[in-house]
Amino acid sequence: MDVTSVDDVLMCADPQQWRPGDSWLAGGTVLFSYGTDITRGAPTRLLDITGAGWTPLTWHPRPSGRAPSLEIAATCRIAELRALADEPFPGGVPRATLPGLDLIPPACDSFVASWKIWNVSTVGGNVATALPAGPMISLLSGWDATAVIFRPDGTERRTPVAELIVGPARTRLADGELIRSFLVPGDALAQTPAFRRISLTERGRSAALLIGRRTSATSLRLTVTASAFHPIVLDLSADPGWRRGRRTRRS
Ligand SMILES: Cc1cc2nc3c(=O)[nH]c(=O)nc-3n(C[C@H](O)[C@H](O)[C@H](O)COP(=O)(O)OP(=O)(O)OC[C@H]3O[C@@H](n4cnc5c(N)ncnc54)[C@H](O)[C@@H]3O)c2cc1C
Repeated sequence: MDVTSVDDVLMCADPQQWRPGDSWLAGGTVLFSYGTDITRGAPTRLLDITGAGWTPLTWHPRPSGRAPSLEIAATCRIAELRALADEPFPGGVPRATLPGLDLIPPACDSFVASWKIWNVSTVGGNVATALPAGPMISLLSGWDATAVIFRPDGTERRTPVAELIVGPARTRLADGELIRSFLVPGDALAQTPAFRRISLTERGRSAALLIGRRTSATSLRLTVTASAFHPIVLDLSADPGWRRGRRTRRS
């Protein structure tokens, strides 16, 4: 669909070039299917970040046998992330030592029209769109991932993905802020995960999507998405004396 409000399209991933009326353009599967930017209104310029040259997936080794952490570029395509789950030695370690990667296939399959949009749409675009049924929001929140955000004043800030989402098509991204990448802690990838999803129709959008992660022998972190306006993170424990869970901090 044409975005009829647009006067100019630039290849640009520099927030210092951003001006009112601009929208970042990644895969374009939201911008060109709605014909507008559902997060901030009709854009007059599109700043195309797909030429930024960011490496889609980067592993960061950690000392003393701890699982490597993973950096996912905002411009990483869904198909590139999906392929990671099938690598025998991701980050140079045996695949079996990173069971958290088991969450990738079902999360990617949770897109409506899954593989049709996998090669175009990006992880960052999914998070920035902030739809309740955004499966990359579910996955990254379930991993306790942190978003690295470039700001128009040239600085950088970091925030948990679960706290970046406010509600449908609403985030805590300020004007001109650009998501650069997502940092996934190695410890989360080394923990045993669980994934459960229901939909109202066989191939429909997620109605509820739950990701569990065993954080110790007696405790579990549960992330609820799709059925809520924003991710809800709960810590549950079988320890005697434990009384309540943790809800994602909201300011
Ligand atoms: C057939 C079909 C089925 C779909 N099914 C689903 C679904 O089940 N669940 C779902 O959540 N979505 C779905 N979508 C919507 C969309 O495909 C995804 O949300 C996708 O991941 C968006 O990524 P994109 O790169 O195409 O975003 P774009 O369209 O390029 O951008 C979307 C928004 O994100 C902003 N943005 C993009 N990248 C960044 C960045 N790095 N930093 C800051 N802002 C940024 C843009 O300015 C824009 O506001 C579907 C779309 C289609 C066409």
